[in-house]
Amino acid sequence: MSLLEMKNIKKSFDDVEVLKDISLKVEKGEVLCIIGPSGSGKSTLLRCATNLETKDSGEINYQGSFGLVFQNFNLFPHHTVMKNIVNAPIKVQKRDKDEVYKEAKSLLKKMGLEDKENAYPCELSGGQQQRVSIARALAMNPDILFFDEPTSALDPELTGEILKVIKDLAAEDMTMVIVTHEMNFAKNVADYIIFMENGYIVEQGSPEEVFASQNTRMKEFLGKFE
Ligand code: ADP
Ligand code: MG
Repeated sequence: MSLLEMKNIKKSFDDVEVLKDISLKVEKGEVLCIIGPSGSGKSTLLRCATNLETKDSGEINYQGSFGLVFQNFNLFPHHTVMKNIVNAPIKVQKRDKDEVYKEAKSLLKKMGLEDKENAYPCELSGGQQQRVSIARALAMNPDILFFDEPTSALDPELTGEILKVIKDLAAEDMTMVIVTHEMNFAKNVADYIIFMENGYIVEQGSPEEVFASQNTRMKEFLGKFE
């Protein structure tokens, strides 16, 4: 079953077309990794998929709800960790307060942050802040979780802890769309990989297919990580 289908999506900023007829599907339980050089349109694609940006044309069909994890965590600095997590489920989803707090505690435990619920974001490391933002996204019980370069703002030694959290979610069959520059991670965790360049999907397929691609652009891109 496709949880998300995007068909013939186009998007321009001023006169520059940054998404040129993009079509993709995300199946339930699938991990889709989107790779490609800076400026190729990956964030714009994610932003169109999650309604942060309006597409110019094309069709987007969703089954269920989604959550989003940003590169720069985007936590509310004046709220505690707990408040950051419970706010939207209580205020937006109008869910039962006790139940939301209980679930938030269990998510914090899962993220290894059970002792941080009263801390403020500025008191946490980047890796801890990103784990809070993953807990916050999960607290909305999304059917699909989107990540836009979740480790790009982190020091290399903190990157692994976030990739591990995402790997664990994949093992629980969480459906995820992940924009990443972590090629080994994409190779290991993705069910499907899309390589974007200049607003186009240039190559796509299983990790085995994409990493063995003979496409010149693809090979050149992968060569930069060797
Ligand atoms: P990526 O995430 O792959 O690095 P982006 O989707 O951020 O690429 O950007 C694709 C292109 O669109 C870039 O040329 C970028 O400058 C441009 N762009 C992105 N957002 C905007 C915006 N809000 N206004 C104008 N141009 C934008
Ligand atoms: Mg981007």
